[in-house]
Amino acid sequence: MKKLYFGSNLKMYKTIRETTEYLTSLARLTEDISREETELFIIPSYTALERACASVDQNLIRLGAQNMCWEEQGQFTGEISPLMLQETGVRLVMIGHSERRHVFGETDEEENKKVSCALQHGFTALLCIGETAEDKKYAVGPEVLRMQLKKGLSGIDADGTDRLWVAYEPVWSIGVNGTPATADYAERMHGEIKRCLLELFPETGAQIPVLYGGSVNPGNAEELIVQPSIDGLFVGRAAWQADKFNELIRSAQKAAGR
Ligand code: PEP
Repeated sequence: MKKLYFGSNLKMYKTIRETTEYLTSLARLTEDISREETELFIIPSYTALERACASVDQNLIRLGAQNMCWEEQGQFTGEISPLMLQETGVRLVMIGHSERRHVFGETDEEENKKVSCALQHGFTALLCIGETAEDKKYAVGPEVLRMQLKKGLSGIDADGTDRLWVAYEPVWSIGVNGTPATADYAERMHGEIKRCLLELFPETGAQIPVLYGGSVNPGNAEELIVQPSIDGLFVGRAAWQADKFNELIRSAQKAAGR
């Protein structure tokens, strides 16, 4: 039985106190869920990371950072280095979220340096990819996803892929103005991603989890999670209340036969 992944990026929401309350509550609500079969993770803001790590057992809820610089130190004002993240205790680093790419102009080349640096420093790297509405209009989504994977994972050693996760988050589906992808569409794109990962890493590519994100909600979580190529759900708004996220996780798990 494949492992399922459920996680949330808290973006620039929740203070330190709100984050620790949220995590404590989510850990309590989900404590009976088997962590052998299900991986839960939360990605708070930088300022909350140290307290978050002290307030929750990462064997129950893995904690991650929303971004990371590819250098250990230097003249990079405003950036956070892998050594600084190690000090906080997080085990996961998200790289290339749609807002990093499209609001802050990050490139595939930069995401590649970050993935490589995150893996070298012992983190699990969650690489986010996704096509824009324009890419979709011209039906070049698969090509764009392949390019983001090939560039973003260039030079990555197959040995590191046991700490690599991918999130497929179509840009047009994310956030308050987003439209969720249909389960059929998401499954087709996930199939493309999985084929590409297998081409890049013939020995280990099949083991890399690929999560769907973009307007996941209680109305579509079940049909998405049962798709054969979807290994988990990466949830924004619908996860930011612990009780609501707990319900969504449980209904998705049930749909997936857990
Ligand atoms: C996201 O921003 O990564 C995301 C999935 O957000 P939402 O679920 O709110 O669309």
